[in-house]
Amino acid sequence: MQCPACQRIVYNRRLATCEWCAAPLPEGIRLSDDERQRLDQPAATVALGGDQAAAAQGGVRCPACQRVVFNRRLAACEWCTAALPTGIRMSVEEMSAIDAGEAAKAEQRRQALRQADQESRAKRLKRLGRRAMGLW
Ligand SMILES: [Zn+2]
Ligand SMILES: [Zn+2]
Repeated sequence: MQCPACQRIVYNRRLATCEWCAAPLPEGIRLSDDERQRLDQPAATVALGGDQAAAAQGGVRCPACQRVVFNRRLAACEWCTAALPTGIRMSVEEMSAIDAGEAAKAEQRRQALRQADQESRAKRLKRLGRRAMGLW
């Protein structure tokens, strides 16, 4: 790409003006917003598709059948039952970290439920109290 004003090569097509002479660059030379976005994304995510995207989401491929193994807690492939290498399998630490995370989440849910229960009970008591006052 050459600058139409100074004829020098424009390396940075993200700029709106020439790096050398500061002349405004025409649309054709500048990167379009789409192109810029594509460049800004890491190449890996652009290249991924289908199974690879699934693999990026936590699945890995079975070395025997090349299919995506979603459940990395298993010692064998879900498809061909080939033994999975430890590199593919989740480590014990990973598993316990996930279990711990899930346990914490479950505990949070329990606490939220308990709180909601207490609130509704308090409301009911208040209602009952008001009714009792009315009776008095
Ligand atoms: Zn120029
Ligand atoms: Zn397999």
